[in-house]
Amino acid sequence: MAHYQYLIIGGGMAADAAAQGIRERDARGTIGLISAEHDPPYNRPPLTKGLWKDKPLAAIWRHTPERHVDLHLGHRVETVDVPHKQVTDDHGQSYTYDKLLLATGGQPRRLPFGGDLIIYYRTLEDFRRLYATAEQRRKFAVIGGGFIGSEIAAALAMNEKEVTMFFPDSAICERMFPRDLAGFLNDFYRQKGVELRAGESVTGLEQRGEQLALFTSGKHVVTVDCVVAGIGIEPAVELAKQARLDVENGILVNEFCGTRQPDIYAAGDVAIFFNPALGKYTRVEHEDNALTMGRVAGRNMAGDAQPYHHLPYFYSDLFELGYELDARLQMVVDWQEPYQKGVIYYLKQNRVRGVLLWNVWNQVEAARVLIAARQEFQPRDLMGRLPAAKVRVGAGQE
Ligand code: NAP
Repeated sequence: MAHYQYLIIGGGMAADAAAQGIRERDARGTIGLISAEHDPPYNRPPLTKGLWKDKPLAAIWRHTPERHVDLHLGHRVETVDVPHKQVTDDHGQSYTYDKLLLATGGQPRRLPFGGDLIIYYRTLEDFRRLYATAEQRRKFAVIGGGFIGSEIAAALAMNEKEVTMFFPDSAICERMFPRDLAGFLNDFYRQKGVELRAGESVTGLEQRGEQLALFTSGKHVVTVDCVVAGIGIEPAVELAKQARLDVENGILVNEFCGTRQPDIYAAGDVAIFFNPALGKYTRVEHEDNALTMGRVAGRNMAGDAQPYHHLPYFYSDLFELGYELDARLQMVVDWQEPYQKGVIYYLKQNRVRGVLLWNVWNQVEAARVLIAARQEFQPRDLMGRLPAAKVRVGAGQE
């Protein structure tokens, strides 16, 4: 049975960052990483962005083995035995540990029909499948109007595919943006040739020869060559429950990324942590959090005591538009060029709780300072704070 001083469950970006954090403190301690995926850790954002433009596959690897980590790929951990500090995988292999990290991320939510005919887009294997299909076929349906749906629809359309998007809201990313910006995005996607079925859901799917027929809530039948879905993820907490950790919609960790079991840590999409700047517990499903939190968890597993107080940001690429953003509350809009370039501040009780940088770059640190400031702002105080110009104030919702 293999024994590791540090055992990491999960093969995503948080897992790799943890290995990095461990190595910053401990050059020699043995590290094992067990991942259900067959690929070693890679950067996930290019799966919906760069790999559909000109980024080569070779550029996405995180080079985890160079940190002297034993990779156990294609193995899924099924049981955790906390008293014996031992885990067992689906191949019947057991491993013991001194310190354990759960970086198990989340699994895609699935629709109650369609089975494996639908690509629930999440991994490099999903990219390979979709890319190979896109090389042969023309008509694609995208279900979901969140991050995956909006980015993959843009990626496919940029590659001259016919794309139909289905999502429950009236606009793409409606829950994050002011209504007029979400409306602008709808128009923008239509101009790029994407057919939007806003407010229409897919209720069934049937294979018809080489094609797939989608049945919709509007009683339509739409025939396509391939269906991709991004309808959110569920945090993978099964092992945490077995280990009797504190589990809600994720694994609750303290400020050092530790759990209620002394030698078990959690980081990345699966972990719920307290963020002092926001004054609340939060769980974040984005790259910056996975990388920063994973690294802090790794350092702390190796004896450091570094609190994780980082305020994560996230970003997206929709055709040639890009943005970096945080949350949605009351909105103060400061466009330099309407819908093309500007800053939107999200306020609660006059304190800045989030900032959307719309085609505005290199302002993330300045935005973090505003969010962390224990200071009340009036809309006029925010105008021109980060590069932008014209004033408009809109009421949002929490
Ligand atoms: P997501 O961003 O949470 O969006 C899910 C979308 O699916 C929502 O718009 C949701 O609508 C919709 N939806 C839910 N049930 C549906 C149904 N039955 N039919 C049609 N639409 C439905 O999740 P995601 O796009 O699947 O992305 C998965 C994860 O990867 C997320 O955690 C995301 O943050 C992460 N990711 C991040 C980035 C980035 O940071 N740029 C890029 C890609 C992925 P409602 O809101 O109305 O429920």
